[in-house]
Parts: sequence; C-alpha cells; structure tokens
Amino acid sequence: MNGLMAGKRGLIMGLANEKSIAWGIAKQLSEQGAELAFTYQGDALAKRVKPLAERLGSDFTFECDVSEMSALDAAFETLKSRWDTIDFVVHAIGFSDKAELRGQYLDTSLDNFLMTMNISAYSLVAVTKRAAEMMPEGGSILTLSYYGAEKVIPHYNVMGVAKAALETSVQYLANDLGPKNIRVNAISAGPIKTLAASGIGDFRYILKWNELNSPLRRNVTIDDVGGSGVYFLSDLSSGVTGEVHHVDGGYHVVGMKQEDAPDI
Ligand code: NAD
Repeated sequence: MNGLMAGKRGLIMGLANEKSIAWGIAKQLSEQGAELAFTYQGDALAKRVKPLAERLGSDFTFECDVSEMSALDAAFETLKSRWDTIDFVVHAIGFSDKAELRGQYLDTSLDNFLMTMNISAYSLVAVTKRAAEMMPEGGSILTLSYYGAEKVIPHYNVMGVAKAALETSVQYLANDLGPKNIRVNAISAGPIKTLAASGIGDFRYILKWNELNSPLRRNVTIDDVGGSGVYFLSDLSSGVTGEVHHVDGGYHVVGMKQEDAPDI
C-alpha cells in the first residue's frame, strides 16, 4: 500500500541515529508520502539527524531539549514559522541516569526520579499541549513505551515507573483531546538494541530472553515498529485512541519460559 500519509505532515522527536525507533517510524511515514520535520537534542546530535532527515527529503530540523519548557516553546515557534498546522507527532524520547538502570529500584534518588519522570513522561504532556494547538482539524500523537511499565523487568527500575506514568498519560490525554479529534496512542515495543537501550543493565540478557520466549521466537525491529507507527499516525486507525499497543512478538501474553527455550 502506498500514499497512506499523502498530504500529511508531522514532527518526529527522538531521532538519534539509524538505530533509533524514531528512524524506523520516520522511514515508513516518508515512504507513505508524509512530510517530516525533526527535532534533535543538542548540537552533538544535529550532525547525525540532519543527514538522516535529508535522506527522507527534509531540511526542516531544529533543536529541542524537552526537559526545558522554554526550549519546547521555542521549538514549536520554529515549527509554526514554516507550517501553520500539523497532522501528527512522534514522541520517541526517554532518559534516566544509567547508574540507576541497574541494581534495585529501592535505591532511586529523588533527583533522578524527577528527571526521569520529566523527560520520559511529562514531556509527552508538554509536547501534546503545544502540538494540539496546531491540529485544528484533529491529528494523531504517538509515543513509545515498554513492558517494564506493566511488569518488573530487572534493571529497568525508575524507567518502568516513568513508562507507567507515560501509559496512563496516554489515556488521560486521549480523553482530553478526543473531542478535538486528536488521538493519542502508544506502542509498547519489545527490546531493540538502540543508544537508549544500551544504558540498561544486562540488556543483552533481556534481548536474548525475549527472542527465546516470545511467541514469534524473535526480537522485533525498528521496521516492525515503523509499520505499526504508520497505522497509528494514518487514518487507518481513525477510531483508535488511548491505546497501548504491543509490538513485541507477542511477548506480553506469555506467562512462563517456553519449553523449547534453552537456558541462557
Ligand atoms: P534512542 O537513543 O535512539 O532514542 C532516544 C531519544 O531520546 C534520543 O534521540 C535522545 O536524543 C532523546 N532524548 C533523551 N533525552 C532528551 C531530552 N531531554 N530532550 C530531547 N530528546 C531527548 O533510543 P530508542 O530506543 O529509539 O528510544 C526511543 C523511545 O523508545 C524511548 O522512549 C524508549 O524508552 C522507547 N523504547 C525503547 C525500546 C528499546 O528496547 N530500544 C523498547 C521500548 C520502548
């Protein structure tokens, strides 16, 4: 199918490199005809994000650190300077001090708790508020979550708590904005080797465990997530909001180690 996103334009937040989930989604949005703008976090990432944006035919890139409300305001002013309206936003952003993505949740510091909640959960609220003002005819907002919001995953700790807040935010935002025909959904992706994931303690074990124990017996890719992303950001999902949709090879339905899974 082609052209599902023709005539639609939107903002991609959270692209760091070719391994980013945001890249998997952006590529497929572009293939389907979407026009894209990109934010990057700081100058160091600008030199990675700009050439990737160019590969998808976009020269519209600008800085945005979502932890600063003034930076968010400035980013949306930049967006508005070129586009009056947008149709969608991808929020693929999360961060925590990697020193606390290992060991026990019990040891979470207040500073890191607040920072993690700000960047990984509150930022969706702050982005959605600003994006909604640019969606007079409605729109679609998509964020990225992980199973650690629902069940304890060793080392995920405060990120799991932030993802739980993110998923509940999806529901409250969906309810607030439903009357404006703005939909808010999340994809709960299975583990994928990205820059952010490399900060999580023993991530290789998590990857292997999911590969061996998910119904599909494999890990998902950024392209798997990209396909579902197009569904949520296009009119194919016009009746869907407040949803947390698993793209995890079915891992979340499994209650025990698979009989055919070797010990790791
Ligand atoms: P990634 O490192 O490619 O992307 C994370 C992005 O967050 C980066 O672009 C980084 O610049 C951005 N970011 C962090 N702090 C920021 C800030 N203060 N302001 C603006 N941007 C900031 O990794 P990814 O795995 O593609 O992560 C994207 C999203 O997917 C995250 O929310 C992550 O939690 C989620 N997710 C990842 C996995 C996985 O296994 N990789 C699984 C499920 C969900």
